[in-house]
Amino acid sequence: MRSPLTTVPFIFLALNICTDVSASRTSENHTTSSDSVIARVYTDDTDRIRSLGQNHDLLYYIWREEYAVIRTKRNRMPPDAIIDEQSTSALRSAQEPFRGTGTIPDRPCYRTVEQTYSDLESLANSNPSLAQWNDFGDSWEKTLGLGGYDLSVLVLTNAEVVGTKPVFMVIAASHARELTTSESVTRFGENLVADYGTDPNVTWMLDHFEIHIIPQHNPDGRKMAEAECSGGCFPGWRKNTNQNYCSPGSSNRGADLNRNSSSGFWGGPFSGGSQCGETYRGPSSASEPENTHLEAYIDSVFPDFRSVAPNDFVTPAENDANGVFISVHSAGDIAFYPWEGSNNVPPNLDGLRALAQKTGFASGFAACQNCFLGPASGTNVDYVYETRGIPSLTFETGSSFGETCQNFENIVLPETLAALSATLRHSYRSYQAPQGPDALEISFTSSPDGGTLTATADDTRRAVNGGGEPLQPSQAISKVRYSIDEPPWIAAQTFPMNASDGVFDEPVEEATAGLSNGQISGAARMIFVFAEDADGNQGPPTAIWLPGDGFDFKSSFETP
Ligand SMILES: [Zn+2]
Repeated sequence: MRSPLTTVPFIFLALNICTDVSASRTSENHTTSSDSVIARVYTDDTDRIRSLGQNHDLLYYIWREEYAVIRTKRNRMPPDAIIDEQSTSALRSAQEPFRGTGTIPDRPCYRTVEQTYSDLESLANSNPSLAQWNDFGDSWEKTLGLGGYDLSVLVLTNAEVVGTKPVFMVIAASHARELTTSESVTRFGENLVADYGTDPNVTWMLDHFEIHIIPQHNPDGRKMAEAECSGGCFPGWRKNTNQNYCSPGSSNRGADLNRNSSSGFWGGPFSGGSQCGETYRGPSSASEPENTHLEAYIDSVFPDFRSVAPNDFVTPAENDANGVFISVHSAGDIAFYPWEGSNNVPPNLDGLRALAQKTGFASGFAACQNCFLGPASGTNVDYVYETRGIPSLTFETGSSFGETCQNFENIVLPETLAALSATLRHSYRSYQAPQGPDALEISFTSSPDGGTLTATADDTRRAVNGGGEPLQPSQAISKVRYSIDEPPWIAAQTFPMNASDGVFDEPVEEATAGLSNGQISGAARMIFVFAEDADGNQGPPTAIWLPGDGFDFKSSFETP
């Protein structure tokens, strides 16, 4: 269930809303037929959903309950639309940014831009070997000397482990009003630092991966959205605040940062050429400083695994590419993979779909290309996949722009953290690993001459909903192996495990191995287990602590 409003039966909901409508007619808020409203349209017809997007501002689609949410004028509502009175009454139009620090008015679970920045800077200062807080550019307002903000990134990795590491990057709040996204990725970073040294999988991933978290891609716009939460919260500000578009004082000014990227699809579907429109793509690709700086940062951090001519949408990225890029949005509980700007099949379809479906398994998100809403062009995700060959996903999290704190803490945050963890663990060989089995339920029992390692290898974990696409088939497990102290691609040696039932021939298999004292003596702290399927896809490793250092040595990074 998504929110108190949606837990009630449909008929009760309709009655309740009728009551609210009649109440608003007699109230003194001067409601007129041309006022903006937030309304639901119940449908599972993708053509209908897409036509809503052509005639109204289509905000998102909640596939679990089969309704689209639109913003439109009261006198232009489709006949079957149902006004969401609570969200409608919370609509505000910001003229000035929110001036406070701390948390957002009416939503104490979401930190402001200033508070997010100061907390993450403190986190880096207190954990200098694990975290850095870096400035990679300026927002539009700061570029113009109108106030504004740095564009900042939290970089997490154990600096004492040297070498080239796969990069996991996540950006949030490209769309200002999508309030939960910044808080979710900020908590993700804070949790990783807190769990280092305790959770074996967080520990090895911070040792061997580099994690880049950009919590505020659009800080100028976000401050306007923050100002729109006061006595209710359903913020409308989406774009940056560039005063050259629409008109300088208009709350419809700015460009849509997730339609403005230097992807070859820039200027295509679900993006607008009208400056006052919600999906205004800007006069040229990466015209906005938020994207110019983001793209330069992406290019500086990710290796290029897809060296192709511009507008080549068919040559695959290298199959052994490392790294993942995630752009977090709301709402809808969906993981989209490229191409986002077109329904063309992406050349790395199997790997991209597998990563989305593994994410969907962990989080409950639907996993698909352009499902429900259709293509959207000029996105940050398409830029990263197209120009760097990195597997990239858009997450649409939660069920509202004004998500209550109760929903956020109990539903949206856990699902988003599960989705981020599920993608992070596939950062090495990130097209191949999600097609392979997971290593689960690992345990180690000590004995006088060493010990016994057991694990389950499972190749069946796929999204619960493919948005109309087939779920990827499972294969029989062919191998289960382990390494000691380092992940298998770094360890000098890996060792076989045996099928508990004598032969590896099914998609779910239990495996065992006997370890000698020689293998686990001295400084050894961790065991990694990983499995391969009959198609040769090797899944990501899962680690446990070895006994003797005071930790529970069951894996604690399991996804739900
Ligand atoms: Zn968005």
